[in-house]
Amino acid sequence: MSNAENNEFRDSFGKINDINSYEVIIIGSGPAGYTAGIYTSRAKLKTLIISGNLPGGQLMTTSEVENYPGFPNGVFGPELMMNMRQQAERFGAIVLDDEVTMVDFKTYPFLVSTHSEKFQALSVIVCTGASPRKLGITGENEFAGRGVSYCATCDGPFFKGEDIAVVGGGDTALEEATFLTKFGRSVKIIHRRETLRGSKILQEKALENSKIQFLWDNVIIEIKGNKKIEQIEIRNLKSGKVQTIQVGGLFVAIGHEPNTSIFKDQLQLSDKGYIVLTEHTKTSVPGVFAAGDVHDFRYRQAVSAAGFGCMAALDVEKWLGRSEADRNKKEPKSLGAMGVS
Ligand code: NAP
Repeated sequence: MSNAENNEFRDSFGKINDINSYEVIIIGSGPAGYTAGIYTSRAKLKTLIISGNLPGGQLMTTSEVENYPGFPNGVFGPELMMNMRQQAERFGAIVLDDEVTMVDFKTYPFLVSTHSEKFQALSVIVCTGASPRKLGITGENEFAGRGVSYCATCDGPFFKGEDIAVVGGGDTALEEATFLTKFGRSVKIIHRRETLRGSKILQEKALENSKIQFLWDNVIIEIKGNKKIEQIEIRNLKSGKVQTIQVGGLFVAIGHEPNTSIFKDQLQLSDKGYIVLTEHTKTSVPGVFAAGDVHDFRYRQAVSAAGFGCMAALDVEKWLGRSEADRNKKEPKSLGAMGVS
């Protein structure tokens, strides 16, 4: 690093000796983040994983995961994520339970700040995921995981023989409703308009499915139950009529919000806010990579996110361009050149 860069660095972040430096900083700790950490730390790259405000990500709020390979009897989401974390730590990755509040990818080494600390990194992998959009109605939080779900692929098989409702009119709602007919006794799609947003082919499939009934121009106003969901109250937006429907499950499929607000001025984002990849897992900034739901709005599975984490880690290794021999040196040349011990 040149003196000029050094001074600039000191100006924005104070004394250089107070700064922690890493070859890779991974932002986010879902399957993508931990898998990336397992690979980069195993490749002997000095790795920091900053977990975010929900360490372990979305799987920490799911119960049993039946479709993650390697667990013939299923595995609890939190257990799976704790195992992944320990696996990354075993190879030397440091996991910090903190939230990133600011990044600066316009300078190099990159700067990453959390609530409590500031770091510099030679490369960054963004694995901040996406959060399912919520209805924001009474009962939604109370019955989340007790009949209210945001992922049919994950939870559908737990609703065998139930009367199920799905809310939304996009591809996800149509695909999930069709999938849920394999398990449920009936599936009602509740949509706020009378035309669907989803693709023609998925519309046709859903409309032709005798187990699916559409309730057009309706919104859900309340979710009710005891220990688990029992009813939903819906209102017709045209007639104003309110009715109560008995359900054993409600799948909310009204879109996802990628967790990218801190990258707005730093990385190229799509009109829906997802990180745009330029090639493989590379983002618009060389040295910054992305993995998982933060760029992938199509598959959104734990196993596909883990796969992307692996790919991003391999891309980072290649990008850092360091040979095996270099990595085994006691003091990494690139970190030493920053003047940081
Ligand atoms: P989406 O296309 O944004 O659709 C969201 C749906 O939820 C819309 O019908 C919307 O209604 C409704 N909605 C939004 N906020 C609502 C609220 N507060 N209350 C009630 N309804 C609400 O989201 P998505 O279906 O998750 O799809 C996201 C992207 O992934 C899309 O590009 C989609 O094509 C893609 N995708 C593709 C596939 C596939 O190809 N197999 C499968 C899944 C997803 P309005 O229509 O009235 O706005």
